[in-house]
Order: sequence, then structure tokens, then C-alpha cells
Amino acid sequence: MTEQSPLDLPEDHPFGLHNLPYGVFSTPDEPDRHRIGVRYGDHVLDVHTASTALGSPHADLLAHPTLNALMAAGRAVWQAVRADIRTWLGYPAIEPFLHPLTGVTLHLPIEVADYVDFYASEHHATNVGRMFRPDGDPLTPNWKHLPIGYHGRAGTVVVSGTPVVRPSGQRKAPADADPTFGPTQRLDIEAEVGFVVGTPSALGEPVPQTAFREHVFGVCLLNDWSARDIQAWEYVPLGPFLGKSFATSISAWITPLEALDAARTAPPARDHALLPYLDDGDLEPGGLDLRISVAINGHPIANPPFSAMYWTAAQQLAHMTVNGASLRTGDLYASGTVSGPRVEERGCLLELTWAGRDPVDLPDGKRTFLEDGDEVTLTAWAPGPGTVRIGLGDVVGRIEPAV
Ligand code: MN
Repeated sequence: MTEQSPLDLPEDHPFGLHNLPYGVFSTPDEPDRHRIGVRYGDHVLDVHTASTALGSPHADLLAHPTLNALMAAGRAVWQAVRADIRTWLGYPAIEPFLHPLTGVTLHLPIEVADYVDFYASEHHATNVGRMFRPDGDPLTPNWKHLPIGYHGRAGTVVVSGTPVVRPSGQRKAPADADPTFGPTQRLDIEAEVGFVVGTPSALGEPVPQTAFREHVFGVCLLNDWSARDIQAWEYVPLGPFLGKSFATSISAWITPLEALDAARTAPPARDHALLPYLDDGDLEPGGLDLRISVAINGHPIANPPFSAMYWTAAQQLAHMTVNGASLRTGDLYASGTVSGPRVEERGCLLELTWAGRDPVDLPDGKRTFLEDGDEVTLTAWAPGPGTVRIGLGDVVGRIEPAV
């Protein structure tokens, strides 16, 4: 029996020719040499070395320890490089540039510029509103008129696999007279999708929804770790701060927007007119049919459907810049917790357990919120051409005890 070449990949492999996500890796013999790679099956193609060896006109853009130079080069270059890589994967001579995934270390693929987190699932926002404001309307009056978001902390975005240390901070339960300080007792996840900006924009010039494909390079999975007790005490009246900023994990792989063309879908119907800069009635469908799964210690707990999101990534881009705020290469904006209408489609433990009232059953015991040692894994796939599935890179994080 002959050994199979890593180039012999079935066309319907979730990391086959229709996907080709970008990442940054190193090998054990050169641990400090962070190189751009593209995932192909269970291998990484060293596109830095391959592009130089093949005399690619884009080799300089691929000779960096992050994707930012490639992302800044714009959509025409993204398309040209992607087409080249597809061609290279047809050359038997490319095989020496492929490394088994099991033998490489993956690094944060982008230098994150600004980080924004939205709140775009109507189901998530409604559930949270019911829990936190039981006497009021579940949705705030602005919710269906603009995509709500906040500016987060870019410097604490970490790559999948990075341990997450349980944060400490101020908490105050309703029954407590005064706040106390200590490790969060309500450490949670938020299953989200991140969008990575490539092409920057000028200060003072809003970016319309129609320019989404010119500016957004690709998509990642994202876990917006959240300390619910710290968050609940601090966020009134200004919003999330230390309850969120201790860590945000992203997948090691950035899936090019183009790989998700077959997953485009119309967002849920809206029950009222939107202001012109957010109206997408005549535009290409702005939703994405991404099927997310959440697991704790390998046990599935939820399957949030991204197609149920009320606000699209193009609307979020338009809203984020409508005041003239500029985009920078490496900007990362996240969708907000992805939750569908069904209980098993909720993307965080706050909703899944209804603020701790209904624990989730796992083979290793019940969970309300995360315990030290718990490992959370987000995975996702999207329909591709025909019967092909497009896999997104997974996001893994294990909880370490508070320091
Ligand atoms: Mn979030």
C-alpha cells in the first residue's frame, strides 16, 4: 500500500480547495519563525516559503509574521493570491511545503487593531433583557433601529488554545449590602463570529454596506469570555468593561469571505423600515448560514445558528463608520452572542441555564457557569458549493484558576 499524498484530498473535504483559510504557524525546529500558512486538509501549506520558491509577485506580502500586509493589499490581491494557491495545490512539487497540522504551532494570525463587539441576535438580546430587566420591555427602544455594540480591548484578543485565567473583580449580588472583590463565580462563554477588516478607510468617510466586500478580508470563530457577576455590577450606565476585557479567543484560521459565498442567506424579515444607510432590501443577502456548535469538555451543549442573526456584518460595518470613524487594517468586529429561538440554540451559559436557575447536565456533573479546568470548544461549518461543507477553524480555551 502506497502512502497517500496530502495533496490527494477529496473535493468535499471541509478544508479543501473551496476553503483555504489563512493562518500563521511555526515549526519546532524554528519556533520563532512565524510564517503565513494556508490550511489544506490536515496540513498547512507554507505559503511564505512556497511563494518565494515559485517566484510569486505577491511573495513580499506573504513574508510577514501576521496577515496584516496581505489584508491591507485589497480585494484584487486577495483574489489573485487565492487563485495562485489553488493552482499551486495542483503541483506535485508543492508537497514538501506542506506540514502536518499536528506538528506545527499556530499563532494569532492578525495584529488586531481595534476590537468591537456587537449584540446582533434578537433571541440573545431578548433573553438577556428578560433576565436583567424583568419589569421592562426585553429589547431596548433602539435595538431594532441600530446594531448595538461597544469598543472592547484589542490587546487581549488571543488565539485558540491560549489558556484563560479566571478573572477577579468587584461583584455585588442583589442581596449584598456592599461589593466584594474576588474571582468571578459566573464565568461564561459567548459563541460569536468575528469579521476581520483588511482595507482601511479614511477618517470622515462612512463606509456603505455596498463596500463590505472591499473592506472585509475574512471570518473567524470567536469566544467572548464573560464574567457575568463583574459585568452585572459594572456595566450600568456605560456598558461592558472589565467583565469582558480579560480575554477574547479567536480561531487560528481566517476564512476568506469568498469561501462563504454559497452560505449567503437573507437575514430574518424586519417588521419596520430602517434608515437608508442600514436598509439592505436591494442588496445581496447579508446573512451567513454558519452552523455553530458549543462543547464543554467534549460534550455538546448548544448549536447556535448564525443565520438567525438580526443584523448583518455589512450593516454593522456601515453603522460602525457612519459617524466618520475610520477603519484600520486588523480591525476585528464580532457579531455578538449567536442564539437561535430554541433552548438548545443559545450561545452562552447565561441563557442556557437561565442565569444559573437550570443547570446544564454534563457527564462530569452539572454546570451553571464554567469551573476551573473546563475546556470550551466552538466549531462551525457552512454550506459550500454543491454538497461541500466549509469548515471554520475551531476555538478552544481551558479555564485556569484565578491568580
Ligand atoms: Mn459578546
